[in-house]
Amino acid sequence: MEFLKESMLELIIQTSTNLPPDVRNEMARALKTENPGTQAGQALAIIGENIDMAYNDEGPVCQDTGFMTFKIKTPVGVNQIEMKKQIIEAVAEATKRGKLRPNSVDSLTGKNSGNNLGSGTPVMEFEQWEEPDLEVRLLCKGGGCENKNIQYSLPATLEHLGQADRDLEGVKKCILHAVWQAQGMGCAPGALGVCIGSDRAHGYVLAKEQLFRPLDDTNPNYTLAKLEKEVMEEANRLGVGTMGFGGKASLIGCKIAAANRLPASFFVSVAYDCWAFRRLGVLLDPSNGAIRKWLYRDPNWPVERLIKEGEGFKLTGREIILEPPLSEEKVRALEVGDVVLINGPLVTGRDAVHHYLLHHNAPCDLHGQILYHCGPVMMKEGEQWRATAAGPTTSIREEPYEADIIERYGLRAVMGKGGMGKKTSEALQKFGAVYLHAIGGAAQFYARCLVRVTGVHLLEELGVPEAMWQFEARDFVAIVTMDAHGNSLHEDMWSATSAELEKVGAGGT
Ligand code: SF4
Repeated sequence: MEFLKESMLELIIQTSTNLPPDVRNEMARALKTENPGTQAGQALAIIGENIDMAYNDEGPVCQDTGFMTFKIKTPVGVNQIEMKKQIIEAVAEATKRGKLRPNSVDSLTGKNSGNNLGSGTPVMEFEQWEEPDLEVRLLCKGGGCENKNIQYSLPATLEHLGQADRDLEGVKKCILHAVWQAQGMGCAPGALGVCIGSDRAHGYVLAKEQLFRPLDDTNPNYTLAKLEKEVMEEANRLGVGTMGFGGKASLIGCKIAAANRLPASFFVSVAYDCWAFRRLGVLLDPSNGAIRKWLYRDPNWPVERLIKEGEGFKLTGREIILEPPLSEEKVRALEVGDVVLINGPLVTGRDAVHHYLLHHNAPCDLHGQILYHCGPVMMKEGEQWRATAAGPTTSIREEPYEADIIERYGLRAVMGKGGMGKKTSEALQKFGAVYLHAIGGAAQFYARCLVRVTGVHLLEELGVPEAMWQFEARDFVAIVTMDAHGNSLHEDMWSATSAELEKVGAGGT
């Protein structure tokens, strides 16, 4: 197996940096569907550019390089212990090269292992088969979309949909509810893997397994194929849209499996994946581990750019320039829908930093600043750090803490994705601050806007993604989605999409 480690490294790098053709095709379709002048259209243009940039520079498509699941099929007699060893080495090497963010955290101590290895990571599922080759498939699924996975136990009463019974209509209601509850937090447009039946634990496993199916295949089971088609049509009428900004592209795929269940149980398990749907596979020579064939793509077929020359995201000149430290007056003048360009300092802080700031003093002056919910991929070149992927993380996790942080440190803006709740909205109004929405997963696009690292705090204690990074930003584009007057695009979208969901519940799609 002298080539196995190299083959696995190549598989990891390609999966993290180059979306497969079926996902690209669906994203190209989404781009065509949406009006480029809308917020959803602008977000899609940024996402399209980001996908192209990731491929061009072999950089991670998203800074959250995800939880890795390897599905491995081997002929009888292959040494699985040796395979595991080489996969582990390849994962550590890919992390060292900045193709993966250190993403494995000890759940008891909170310590990041720094190399993506640790108890339970990565997941490696082995199976024997009667084919001569080794097959390795890899899915890298990020935290934002993983947090939007959901499981239903039928019969159930679902918000805006009413009663969901133990039949296919009830199952469909659950799946549509899953799309609705994710809004933009899982970086829509998303793709679903669904399992009808099984038990709670295995239902999720089978749902995730559906994400290994190409988005353009047809379910061999007629009933499930019909259900998948109906879900695609109806979910895309809900109006969630890209990043939850509204629009026609909410879902790029729905793949459903059915498994037997206990008479007393009827679970519907949904695995939600984001547009950064990173999944690839290879067939390997079992004698030496060399790659014989790529799955999901043909290397002889050129990768098509999503954004043609001269197209893509364009500044209009109407953007509002923000140069922190920001005054209260400047921030109170902002309104939902304003597009801003940040020039100047930007400081990151996510889960661990929020916890830290509540119990200690901030290690830098946050007065008038913008706190960016982001866990970047960072590379050290000599003595200098550089961000190689730096998109926003889901902000709602900070909802219990953000209002106190805004008050205590005098922040004028927090920035992330997916929006925040009532408590934060009240703090924005009371203290004069706004919520800025960056485009989820656009890690390459935004890394180019972070022109310099000016400082880092808590690196030793919290690890790379959770540390407090201070950047100099240039033309960092974001949208005001919650202002200091109590307006919230997210509230509006919850209301609008709830009304659409109710129509489905009433059988009026
Ligand atoms: S695109 Fe969004 S949900 Fe997907 S991994 Fe990136 S941040 Fe997470």
